[in-house]
Amino acid sequence: MAERVIPLVDQRALALVPPLPQGALAPASGLLTDRLQRPLRDLRISVTDRCNFRCSYCMPKEVFDAQYRYLPHSALLSFEEITRLAQLFLQHGVYKIRLTGGEPLLRKGLENLVAQLAGLQTLDGSAPDLTLTTNGALLARKAPALKAAGLQRITVSLDSLDDAIFRRMNDVDFPLAEVLAGIDAAQAAGLQRIKVNMVVKRGTNDHEIVRMARHFRGSGITLRFIEYMDVGATNGWRMDQVVPSAEVIARLQAELPLVPLAPQAAGETAKRWGWADAQGRHDPALGEIGVISSVTEAFCGACNRARLSMEGRLYLCLFANQGWDLRSLLRSTASDAQLSAAIAHIWQGRSDRYSELRASLPADTSGGQARRIEMSYIGG
Ligand code: SAM
Ligand code: SF4
Ligand code: SF4
Repeated sequence: MAERVIPLVDQRALALVPPLPQGALAPASGLLTDRLQRPLRDLRISVTDRCNFRCSYCMPKEVFDAQYRYLPHSALLSFEEITRLAQLFLQHGVYKIRLTGGEPLLRKGLENLVAQLAGLQTLDGSAPDLTLTTNGALLARKAPALKAAGLQRITVSLDSLDDAIFRRMNDVDFPLAEVLAGIDAAQAAGLQRIKVNMVVKRGTNDHEIVRMARHFRGSGITLRFIEYMDVGATNGWRMDQVVPSAEVIARLQAELPLVPLAPQAAGETAKRWGWADAQGRHDPALGEIGVISSVTEAFCGACNRARLSMEGRLYLCLFANQGWDLRSLLRSTASDAQLSAAIAHIWQGRSDRYSELRASLPADTSGGQARRIEMSYIGG
């Protein structure tokens, strides 16, 4: 069946303006929970809406073309504004910050933002767990400066080890060798716990599951297989293109032994599997893989993630169609206490659990995928 790319309805215009809290304001305690008793622990910050790739599952060329209107620089949060908000989120119990995009390495001077964020403190006084997701195109050049600025770890997206397929999937003919060089540079620079994300799309790259696994097994890098998701409104997603994680694991186990591993932290998105030795026990030298089953096995019950767009809108779910305009507060006379109370108020009202509800929703209608914010706007 032919690919269907859906024209973009611009959801960026839809923003909710949070009321400015007044009076005596309760200070942040780290005990904040939403309506489903979920805490706030993970903040994903998208620093740009631009990208040098055109992955069809995220920014199809037909939509993100020369006419597409990206945000002007003045609309983007400055590094100082991002850092001010990040500090307030840390006081609410966030300990993990992921920089994303668009392609985050396209944001000029990103290492300066990394340095500012690395200097912040979580509630227990430690530095935040700071990471970044990149397509790797500029990583060979930027890895040393990012590491020097205080970045601890990194995730690189890589969907294929076949140069022709990789070029087709990024849709800008970008060579595989440069991304592999970026991963090598990240390792050489001393970035830890490096992960590689592979979005698996049936009929496009699913025949490379085992090859990718063999390539990264024993390399110190954790490969994670991501189910192709119905994010955004333009990728023409179809369920028959999703390869369920259970199938990924079955295909791998047919070739190489794997054992399930326990989660490391609450709210973890990936289920971990370790490569086993001849006795069937996890061999740490061979490392592990992860599967992210956002479509076939919802994990909303423990979802502790908030997403901040490059223009300062706060989204409570990857599949949200409206965000809260924190920039208007940042650029007003609001104090930190008022901003912090506004964040608390927004989180306390959260009841999003899209993946759990997906199966019961009507098939794509104007109330469904056609109205969602793009992945390239709020990051992964
Ligand atoms: N440009 C960077 C990159 O590609 O790593 C960061 C932003 S990208 C939106 C973040 C992650 O989302 C990437 O790992 C990408 O593969 C994933 N992603 C994008 N669209 C997706 C989709 N439809 N389904 C599953 N994952 C997707
Ligand atoms: Fe760009 Fe990342 Fe989206 Fe690919 S997945 S188009 S690299 S933002
Ligand atoms: Fe969290 Fe929304 Fe994903 Fe559920 S669908 S896990 S609430 S981001």
